[in-house]
Amino acid sequence: MWIDTHCHLDAAEFDADRATVIANATAAGVAGLVVPAVECATFDAARAAARAVPGGAYALGIHPLYTPRAREEDIATLRVAVERAMGDPRFVGIGEIGLDYFVKTLDTERQQFFYVEQLKIARDFDLPVILHVRRSQDALLKQLRIFTPRGGIAHAFNGSRQQADMFVERGFCLGFGGQMTFDRALQIRRLAVEMPLSSIVLETDAPDIAPEWIYKQRNSPAELPRMAKVLAALRGVTLEVLSEATCANAWRVLPRLSGATAMKPGDGLAANSSPMSLISPNSGSPSGQSR
Ligand SMILES: [Zn+2]
Repeated sequence: MWIDTHCHLDAAEFDADRATVIANATAAGVAGLVVPAVECATFDAARAAARAVPGGAYALGIHPLYTPRAREEDIATLRVAVERAMGDPRFVGIGEIGLDYFVKTLDTERQQFFYVEQLKIARDFDLPVILHVRRSQDALLKQLRIFTPRGGIAHAFNGSRQQADMFVERGFCLGFGGQMTFDRALQIRRLAVEMPLSSIVLETDAPDIAPEWIYKQRNSPAELPRMAKVLAALRGVTLEVLSEATCANAWRVLPRLSGATAMKPGDGLAANSSPMSLISPNSGSPSGQSR
């Protein structure tokens, strides 16, 4: 079995065939999947998408690429949503949050405000965080040292070995997916091979970050086992060893996920969600950048 620890299954790119995408992922051996929200308007859609998946789970948060249109009141909205979601076994943490220093149009201070306020919510509820890390490793770590959430996942990690070690020391796993399938992704491949197996989780980031064999096409969670195969070959371990380790790691850094992985479609908190919420307002990231 495999766990896709990062999949934007609520995104509009899946509106036409979401049920098929889920069925294909399940058939491929994906037995758990985490849908991180990207802004308050997607909270219901993230929860509804998670509920439709065997082993589906979700996180709530405001993504750095969505901070230009987020409002300061959204922090209070998130806090209320989290309080309510604590009763839902499918809810696993705060995400996707973080800092994106690659997209130059984003306001650094505004990103910092939303990142820090969300770290406080994670700390107050003792929840892990799912981090968007893009040219922002040191800035993210600086606040983690101050607000000390219980760890989580540094998603699509691409940094130095030293930075990777510092995330791991703070209770994080690093998320690896489509990028490591490219021969030229030397730094990511080096990390994927050299980091201890206990620090690695798998993710697709679907519909974004497609692997090499479907480059520039829509990514989907059914691709995860093939990505795992690439990593197993790079590390020289069997698929069984990799499967067992990456699932155990996901359950360790997202403790509530072990309950969600056992859930069947339709289980979990239903209030205020209907099949209609699957039609999502999440129609692509505002800047056209991968989430
Ligand atoms: Zn994402």
